[in-house]
Amino acid sequence: MKNINDTGLLQDEPLIFEQGGKGRKGYSLPQWDIEEVEVNRLLPSHLLRKELEGFPQLSEVDVVRHFTRLSQWNYGVDSGFYPLGSCTMKYNPKINEEVARMKGFAHIHPYQPESLVQSILKLMYELGGFLAEITGMDQVTLQPAAGAHGELTGMMVIRAALQARSEKRKKVLVPDTAHGTNCSTSTVASYQVVEIKSNERGVIPLRKVEELMDEEVAGIMVTNPNTLGFFEEHLAEIAEMVHRKGGFVYCDGANLNALMGIVKLGDLGVDMVHLNLHKTFSTPHGGGGPGSGPLAIKKELAPFLPAPVIEKAGEAYRLNYDRPLSIGRMKAFYGNFGVILKAYAYILSMGAEGLKRASEMAVLNANYLMTGLKGSYYLPYDRPCMHECVFTDRYQEKHHVSTLDIAKRLIDYGFHPPTIYFPLVVKGALMMEPTETEGKEGLDRFIETMNFIAKEAEENPDLLRQAPRRVKVRRLDEVLAARKPKLKWTSEK
Ligand SMILES: *Cc1c(COP(=O)(O)O)cnc(C)c1O
Repeated sequence: MKNINDTGLLQDEPLIFEQGGKGRKGYSLPQWDIEEVEVNRLLPSHLLRKELEGFPQLSEVDVVRHFTRLSQWNYGVDSGFYPLGSCTMKYNPKINEEVARMKGFAHIHPYQPESLVQSILKLMYELGGFLAEITGMDQVTLQPAAGAHGELTGMMVIRAALQARSEKRKKVLVPDTAHGTNCSTSTVASYQVVEIKSNERGVIPLRKVEELMDEEVAGIMVTNPNTLGFFEEHLAEIAEMVHRKGGFVYCDGANLNALMGIVKLGDLGVDMVHLNLHKTFSTPHGGGGPGSGPLAIKKELAPFLPAPVIEKAGEAYRLNYDRPLSIGRMKAFYGNFGVILKAYAYILSMGAEGLKRASEMAVLNANYLMTGLKGSYYLPYDRPCMHECVFTDRYQEKHHVSTLDIAKRLIDYGFHPPTIYFPLVVKGALMMEPTETEGKEGLDRFIETMNFIAKEAEENPDLLRQAPRRVKVRRLDEVLAARKPKLKWTSEK
């Protein structure tokens, strides 16, 4: 049976190293009519690569089929619903990809003189302006390459601003509903994290901030909406409280998809906020980038922004490197320009009304999903949500079915699972974010499937514990995969 594929069109695909045969080639060239010269007569032997043992030798069609089949194993936002919470896996309009690939953009070089890239500088300057408008801030740096990178930039700006006041503060307040990167960035920026416990409504209790805020605290990092999918309703009062004691308010705006055109975070007293262009503004993500996490700030903090900053003088744009108080450079050149470009195209094509509508639809879809699943799954915070909702496996526990089983069973029905076991404040969390780009039929299909799985958990829990069954690879040993990842191909099995 070795050569018989008994999985139908679910193609099995060996490694490319296990395919082909000696002497097989993917090219054919005409006979040459010049004299053959041994390569080691032309190059010193230490520069010559030795024969690569086991290097695959394949024909063109072998290579094309191998990679085409592999590409079909992928699941992405272009193939179906992708409800991964906190990630905003929405469909990205292809027009923005087209724009990013236009030659005039794709072929520019970062060392081109300012005079030859005026339109590029103008575009970045204007995008900064759009993002400042959307967030209610004054100035933006486009340098950070990811959300966490934007956070680090922000924490370094806070440190520099405190230093300019000759102050050294040691602590940063971070609620338990913050994204995990908030704690990491505070730590990397050498602050000590002080946790704030959220209340029964899933938000920061004002009283706790009052208790913890003192002259030792550099500031607070608030994820808004937070990882439970709730708006931090006391943010304005929290900001006032933190400012009164000389601290700064950092807002993690990675999930701005819920707020565009509805709330300006700057109006609530936030001093700085980062956005994830690769979530909200039309860059597909997952798999490691490239991303972009611009940081928007209030003007009092502008002197500390990374250099260079783009300035407009009359009709001309220039890069200003003369920034004595700047925290320095956070990224080579000007940031991930392709991502910046897509965000610019997206914002212009959507318009202010379109962005607002996207956020409204994202929130509506999440609440529709939440309402459809209530009853089948336990809802730890039973109140309207923003762009995502969080359920748990509490009702399924008595059948010995866990969140992991439910997630794996979804794969059997052709859905990508939601985020699981996050946020950490909720035991056995199933965190779902439908985004605005899902239609009602798609949401109904997902709701129906989830409710069906809840019934399966009661009637036939083994089906869930054995899931996924209708896939090439069944349940993987995730601990082994994390502890001993196999990162290199070897001929030994
Ligand atoms: C995704 C996310 C981040 C981290 O963004 P990266 O680009 O992965 O570094 C930070 N905060 C929140 C709330 C997020 O959802």
